[in-house]
Amino acid sequence: MTAYKFNLEGLHCANCAAKIEAAIAQDKSTQNTSLNFAAKTIAFSSSNSNENAVKEWTQNMVDAIEDGVTVTFADRENKTEKTAKKDHSVAEIIISLVFFAAAVLCEHIFAAPIALYAIFYGIAVIVCGYKVFRLGFKSVLKLRLDENTLMTIAVIAAFCIGEFAEAALVTLLFAIGEALEDKAVSRSRHDIEKLAEIRPDTANLETHHGTLSVPAQSVKTGDTIVINPFERIPLDGEIISGSSSIDASALTGESIPVNAVQGTKLLSGMMNGEGLLKVRVTNTYENSAASRILKMVEDAASTKGKSEKFITKFAKIYTPIVMIMAILLVLIPTIFTGDFITWLSRALVFLVASCPCAIVISVPLGFYSGIGGASKIGVLIKGGKYIEALAKADTFVFDKTGTLTTGNLKVSSVESTGELNEKQILALAAAAELHSSHPIAAAIKNKAQNHNLELPVLSDYKEKAGMGVSALSGTKEIVCGNYRILNDNEKQQSEKGFIYLTVDGKLQGKISVSDTVRSEAPAVISRIKNIGAKTIAMLTGDNNDAAEKVFSQCSLTQYHAELLPQDKVKIMTELKTKSRAAVFVGDGINDAPVIAASDCGIAMGLGSQAAIEAADAVLTSGNLNQLPNAVLHSRRVINTVKANIIFALAVKAVILILAAVGIAPMWLAVFADTGVSMLCVLNSSRLLKPKNTNG
Ligand code: ADP
Ligand code: MG
Repeated sequence: MTAYKFNLEGLHCANCAAKIEAAIAQDKSTQNTSLNFAAKTIAFSSSNSNENAVKEWTQNMVDAIEDGVTVTFADRENKTEKTAKKDHSVAEIIISLVFFAAAVLCEHIFAAPIALYAIFYGIAVIVCGYKVFRLGFKSVLKLRLDENTLMTIAVIAAFCIGEFAEAALVTLLFAIGEALEDKAVSRSRHDIEKLAEIRPDTANLETHHGTLSVPAQSVKTGDTIVINPFERIPLDGEIISGSSSIDASALTGESIPVNAVQGTKLLSGMMNGEGLLKVRVTNTYENSAASRILKMVEDAASTKGKSEKFITKFAKIYTPIVMIMAILLVLIPTIFTGDFITWLSRALVFLVASCPCAIVISVPLGFYSGIGGASKIGVLIKGGKYIEALAKADTFVFDKTGTLTTGNLKVSSVESTGELNEKQILALAAAAELHSSHPIAAAIKNKAQNHNLELPVLSDYKEKAGMGVSALSGTKEIVCGNYRILNDNEKQQSEKGFIYLTVDGKLQGKISVSDTVRSEAPAVISRIKNIGAKTIAMLTGDNNDAAEKVFSQCSLTQYHAELLPQDKVKIMTELKTKSRAAVFVGDGINDAPVIAASDCGIAMGLGSQAAIEAADAVLTSGNLNQLPNAVLHSRRVINTVKANIIFALAVKAVILILAAVGIAPMWLAVFADTGVSMLCVLNSSRLLKPKNTNG
């Protein structure tokens, strides 16, 4: 399977978007089809590896559903300025309004002859309606009924029965409504595209010929780039000279600048302060933080939540049901009353009022804006599904080391219990931990480095999760870990709180490491309780005493200590069945199984690529502060989406009933269609601007 992603330029109708997605998904050659209406893209994998053939095929599929949409390769072909065929220009609307006003004056004030004002109304209709009619006729030829066809039929019908003013009013309202709706959608699209501004396109590359401004894509890892004062950092790297203060707020949502000196690691998207910096590039453009964030926000739309999936299904059954109702609305009364024209016009009003556009457009746009808004407060959420989980969550489960605690463990004592002295113990332990990324390993390696110890070279490194590590020094087995990793004989002499070093089964020494609770943890936990969490649990592989301390300092509701990784998964699964939704928060180091077992697994920090990939959401600042904000923001997204659905359905229901009994005029139906869509779109796009939720 080859993965494809295309732009759908000129895609306007949300309802058609759902149909396009369904049509492409249904084809045997495709998988994982996902259409993002807000970004106007479609992504899927295809068994066909000829990209031009797939593009052409996609174009044909799209053409069969909506006219005037151009398929181009996403990421490659620049989006051209939209040449969409149905854009109602302001000029057209004004000219049309003038003729409409003239016609009204002629009809009611000057009592002019019918022919005159009928012509004026006619001009008003044609000027702002011809695009709709053209699309409407095309749809009829394809035997399809969409909003354009309905409008066309309705306006022609109104004209035929002499309702000239009604025909003109309806056309005008429809044009104005669509123009406003388009504006609202493109405004929120534009806001989302602005996120891309955190990724500069050029870098100042140091070469033999001096510093050159080159495309950031062409810079390789290991190259040196210069970052001028108050420039945005284009690529991840490490400072080799200079110092400055760095504003990371675009990535983390935290606006306090941090000092950066030689050796400080920078991420792309951060803003340089007053100093000139030379930076050695450590990641290519595609792998740099800003690109990863943008990609995540874009891809997020493809992990759809329940409400988004519901919408696609809803549109599928809703349209045929409404069609059948409209047909019955003509047939049954006509049989009894014989008045075909009256009931036909009511059915037309009914059909125009029934378009599900407002819902189809505002739900995905709500999630999309919500995800974009979250990224502005330093929370990356990988899809609507996880926004739903965060909004519902009443159970929060934390990993201990690196999550509730700083994870910057320090070796607090080394004690010899055998022949080796303390330095030898430390050197051997550090050598055995060489390949481990566990915070304990980091603490031991740091301590050894601080003492300038020379580490022996070992072989056959092994790590047992939740226990420790082992390696061979020649033929001697070196083991470093907690009591679990010791043999039965050694176990009897051990306590739970220490890390032991054994050589060939003989206890040589014990190391104690200490960790501190994150300064923000107690306050964050209490905020989470305040916003309604019932269960706040901690899972740790560490011993009971260490766990108990963190438990009471953070006022959690429960903890589970001395767990092996599989025990963590088991407890997570149990907690999940007892809750509405369970969130797991970890530092990302060997957390993947627990993340998978939770409804939404959150990793802290942009540090490790693996953690970011495994997680469902990332707190980019690397601390817990944004967690309650993420929950509140997600609830706002869900509430907005729900409010839109209820509002749209309620207005539609009322107007559908009024239309059926003949009270609603056509213009009201048009308002129900375009007006409600526009209001829902505006409401959704507010989610791009996260509220300041601190406190
Ligand atoms: P947690 O992340 O909750 O601390 P882990 O499963 O990562 O749990 O670790 C549990 C325990 O296993 C640690 O407290 C430590 O005693 C031991 N351990 C794990 N990895 C190592 C290692 N690389 N070196 C020494 N001890 C380790
Ligand atoms: Mg851990």
